[in-house]
Amino acid sequence: MAQNGTTENGVPSDPAALPLPQPCKISEIKHTKIFINNEWHCSVKGKTFPTFNPATGGKICEVEEADKADVDKAVEAAKAAMKRGSPWRRMDVSSRGRLLHKLADLLERDRTVLATMESMDSGKPFLQSFFIDLDGSIKTLRYYAGWADKIHGKTMPVDDNFMCFTKHEPVGVCGAIIPWNFPLLMFMWKIAPALCCGNAVVIKPAEQTPLTALHIGALIKEAGFPPGVVNIVPGFGPTAGAAIASHMGIDKVAFTGSVEVGQLIKEAAAKSNLKRVTLELGGKNPCIVFADSDLQLAVQEAQKGAFYNQGQCCTAASRVFVEERVYDEFVRLSVESAKKIVAGDPMDPRTSHGPQINQQQFEKILELVESGKREGAKLECGGHAVQDKGLFIQPTIFSDVKDHMRLAKEEIFGPVQCIMKFKSQEEAIERANSTHYGLAAAVFTRSVDRAMSVSSALEAGTVWVNCYNALHAQAPFGGYKMSGNGRELGEYALAEYTEVKAVTIKLTEQLTV
Ligand code: NAP
Ligand code: MG
Repeated sequence: MAQNGTTENGVPSDPAALPLPQPCKISEIKHTKIFINNEWHCSVKGKTFPTFNPATGGKICEVEEADKADVDKAVEAAKAAMKRGSPWRRMDVSSRGRLLHKLADLLERDRTVLATMESMDSGKPFLQSFFIDLDGSIKTLRYYAGWADKIHGKTMPVDDNFMCFTKHEPVGVCGAIIPWNFPLLMFMWKIAPALCCGNAVVIKPAEQTPLTALHIGALIKEAGFPPGVVNIVPGFGPTAGAAIASHMGIDKVAFTGSVEVGQLIKEAAAKSNLKRVTLELGGKNPCIVFADSDLQLAVQEAQKGAFYNQGQCCTAASRVFVEERVYDEFVRLSVESAKKIVAGDPMDPRTSHGPQINQQQFEKILELVESGKREGAKLECGGHAVQDKGLFIQPTIFSDVKDHMRLAKEEIFGPVQCIMKFKSQEEAIERANSTHYGLAAAVFTRSVDRAMSVSSALEAGTVWVNCYNALHAQAPFGGYKMSGNGRELGEYALAEYTEVKAVTIKLTEQLTV
């Protein structure tokens, strides 16, 4: 996720950080098996599945395919790791923090390999993987490493005959199901808070992008986490994913992905053991640009919001509302800037725009682009696949987008910016909020009063003012409405990974003075 202090390539704007890192040669992928109990396993059914490089269409390797029986094995391992008296349960909390720091050290050591692998498997530009995904992953681990020995309860003043206090205990075995758009980062967003609270994890990476997750398996073992604390089950959603969601031995599941699958997860949780569920399900995020804003800044940030990671972001700024007075200028500057974006080989440092993840997403995006043309939005630039380049789609801008159009209602998950015009602040807020989603929103204005009142009125879990995609491990992230339940990151995520126990002790000695 793009952050301040970086250019659109993800390269630090500070020239002292040069020379730029280069991807490394990966001649063979070492870790392609299921990771359970700190060991590598073949799938029980003996099946494998291929993972591809979206930039070339070439197969990278075969990966062992986990199914229900493998998930069962992983859950058994996780339960054993959580058993009272186990090394993980007995470990003092500061040592848990040290293990998370050690894992972060190993990510730093293997940064180039991980960034290269992430780009090969997902099509992300290498520099974005190296600077943004790796940076976010390492910071998330270090942030939660710091929390490990600071999670404590309270003492409640009850009547004098009792002593009453709370303890924050791990929930138990936590399942996690993650998507392909930020494979490494989503892995860390799930495991870091779970582990710092003392849980064990069974995690399923997305079928399209299993490789960095499996490399992390090796690092988890090297860091010294006891066996069974983290188990990684590469496989498919309807099999391995569904087995996690409905497992009687899993106490909580965290999911990032589509609304449709989020609903299935919640249903499976309800019908099995009522496991806790946290969901992060995307958005149709409004970005409101007022006439009093720094227009150049608004153009750059809104565009970063629309095109970053080829638009494959749950936070994508896919509805940009621009105040009438600056609308034409905003469109002109946005088109000028979009035309400069370089699509190409993700391993080339000049590239800021890679391919979409797979044929299915590629077709879905182009179909939505066609719907925009049909429904009367004005195509300002792009609007097609990049010729002879497989899964690449040109950065696309539509102006004159109307609220009833599919472009304005459906999550596109591709490099398509939809620009709409508004007249008044009230109107902009009303239209921004008229969606079932509520993940993120942004406001561009020079007025502090307006920034405060508009950010209060927006129905979204995150509101950015004069910036976009400014994500930090310290700040909670999650959605209002159908964008999800619960929060990831920050102190707020700790509540999702702990049970609170109230202990009440009857005192026999009464104070008489
Ligand atoms: P998805 O199906 O929701 O996939 C997300 C994860 O859920 C993957 O690991 C997937 O497994 C798994 N899954 C699928 N069906 C499942 C089931 N029945 N039970 C348990 N787990 C299951 O998303 P997608 O098909 O990759 O993308 C479709 C759309 O979802 C996108 O166009 C976009 O709108 C949205 N999306 C949102 C996010 C986000 O960050 N919120 C991320 C990705 C996609 P597989 O490995 O088999 O896919
Ligand atoms: Mg792949």
